[in-house]
Amino acid sequence: SNPSLSNNGLPSVIRKKLMGYVGFANLPNQVHRKSVRKGFQFTAMVVGESGLGKSTLINTLFNTTLYPPKEHLPPSAERPKTVAIESIGAGEFPFVYPSDFCSSIFSRTDIEENGVRLHLTVVDTPGFGDFVNNDDSWKPIVENIESRFDSYLEQENRVNRTKIVDNRVHACLYFIQPTGHSLKEIDIEFMRRLHTKVNLIPVIAKADTMTDEEIGEFKERILSDIAHHNIHIFQAPTYDNEDEETIAEHEEIASKIPFAVVGSDKPVVTPDGREVRGRAYPWGVVEVDNEEHCDFVKLRQMLVRTYMEELREYTNDVLYENWRTEKLMSMGVAQDSTVFKEINPAARMQEERVLHEAKLAKMEAEMKMVFQQKVQEKEAKLKQSEEELYARHKEMKDALEKQRADLEEKKKKIESGRPITPEKNSTGRRKGFLRT
Ligand code: GDP
Repeated sequence: SNPSLSNNGLPSVIRKKLMGYVGFANLPNQVHRKSVRKGFQFTAMVVGESGLGKSTLINTLFNTTLYPPKEHLPPSAERPKTVAIESIGAGEFPFVYPSDFCSSIFSRTDIEENGVRLHLTVVDTPGFGDFVNNDDSWKPIVENIESRFDSYLEQENRVNRTKIVDNRVHACLYFIQPTGHSLKEIDIEFMRRLHTKVNLIPVIAKADTMTDEEIGEFKERILSDIAHHNIHIFQAPTYDNEDEETIAEHEEIASKIPFAVVGSDKPVVTPDGREVRGRAYPWGVVEVDNEEHCDFVKLRQMLVRTYMEELREYTNDVLYENWRTEKLMSMGVAQDSTVFKEINPAARMQEERVLHEAKLAKMEAEMKMVFQQKVQEKEAKLKQSEEELYARHKEMKDALEKQRADLEEKKKKIESGRPITPEKNSTGRRKGFLRT
């Protein structure tokens, strides 16, 4: 077979051996150093009824008290009348922007691990599902996610866009109440509204309140509900030529969705004397970091250790890109090539003028052609009449000429005395004259 063609017939890369070390093998290290210096931006959102352990889980995930103690929150954030949106970061006192629909608390945390800086933002949605009527609970959340897309788009469109701050929500942890039944209407409605806009990661809250068997059955029902409603939850991508270990890890994480989690702020001591993160019960200790006890470790792997970059990438390449296309289309922008003139009225007018001028020129050319045709016809007609006139004139002239010639001849004969009609008498006298 042709070595320069791959299986699908496309030209394939020809591998060449280098004669010596060039240095581009160091490229990953360069990228690594640069990323470490710049740090990473990551925004996670938590959604679920209050008391499901959202703040506890976030603190457990990042092993820090990201959430300020609740009694320190301003009164307006404590009992929101509707779903509020709060961005939480450790150590900084949140600032509240009051608004009709939601209050937002902005603060950002930089956490560092082995020299790698993570600009982490956690967006909380207090009030979700806490009302008598929760029909529109999803609305302020969708609006918040979209306004973050808006802000990103606006930054991209700036003249100077070297310093884009990525505030887009990269993952949404959706807390399911550990009822053991199936998904509630509010859960389905929320996921249906949000799954095209954010990476959904469903978690079963406070899994320590259920037995392993109950959790297994609950997970099955949740997954079948999700499938039934065509809800897309985040699935880490798999790539070709990945090693077995990676594939196994991927499958293990995927098999745990929706993650049954347990959170804990305080260390507890196990009966065998170990100090662990967990929750103590009269019958024993539920350990957060023990994979036999809950799926916390797998969730952390999904969100932080293995797929944080995939979550960021999917947000940018798929979710944001789709939203952006839809947004621009709804603004009347058809295709990339027409973007400029659609959003630029001057360019649009210029194009309309050119079109109008072209139309006028075409009409003028047509009129000219018709005019010329008419003139030619007239000229031909005139020429014909002229010829006819000329022919008649010539005919008359010829006739007159002939008449004149005849008369001329007659005159000559008269003058020469000869009778007009020739006589038989050759003497030239008339018979009668001669006899007398
Ligand atoms: P939030 O309102 O969703 O942020 O919930 P919190 O994190 O404030 O937790 C509410 C209560 O649930 C607190 O008393 C926590 O100690 C408790 N809690 C948090 N996580 C868990 C958990 O995994 N299991 C159990 N049983 N209780 C939890």
